[in-house]
Amino acid sequence: MDTITNSTTCKTGLKMIEKIEHIGIAVKNIEEANKVYQKLLGVAPYKMEAVESEGVSTSFFQTGESKIELLEATNSESAIAKFIEKKGEGVHHIAFAVKDIKAEMRRLANEGFTILNKEPKKGADNKLVCFIHPKNTKGVLVELCQEIDAND
Ligand code: ZN
Repeated sequence: MDTITNSTTCKTGLKMIEKIEHIGIAVKNIEEANKVYQKLLGVAPYKMEAVESEGVSTSFFQTGESKIELLEATNSESAIAKFIEKKGEGVHHIAFAVKDIKAEMRRLANEGFTILNKEPKKGADNKLVCFIHPKNTKGVLVELCQEIDAND
């Protein structure tokens, strides 16, 4: 246990990867998917938000401490459109909450992970985000996200 704890704690003792922030699910029709997840979880989405730069519409559900993000492509160039074309609907990414996204990007780049964007970008739900190539993470696209007001 100690080694695991140490490896996820930086010199200042701050935990670097804090928790799973949400799981992202690619869907073809977000209105329809909202109904399915509302039925499943027993709650309505607490937020719907378009992220123009990514070509996606998103909705967020909260269940306990956990969140589910549904993503629908708004244009055929969007990563979600390409994902669905290749793999169909399903789990698209796992997002981990971090306190300092830039420090984590440096740490993981040093560990040999391929970070898909040079700088953190503005994602949905008031977050700065970056992605790690699934070839480094056993086929799962990993998102790091930092709450925007946390450090600014
Ligand atoms: Zn996400």
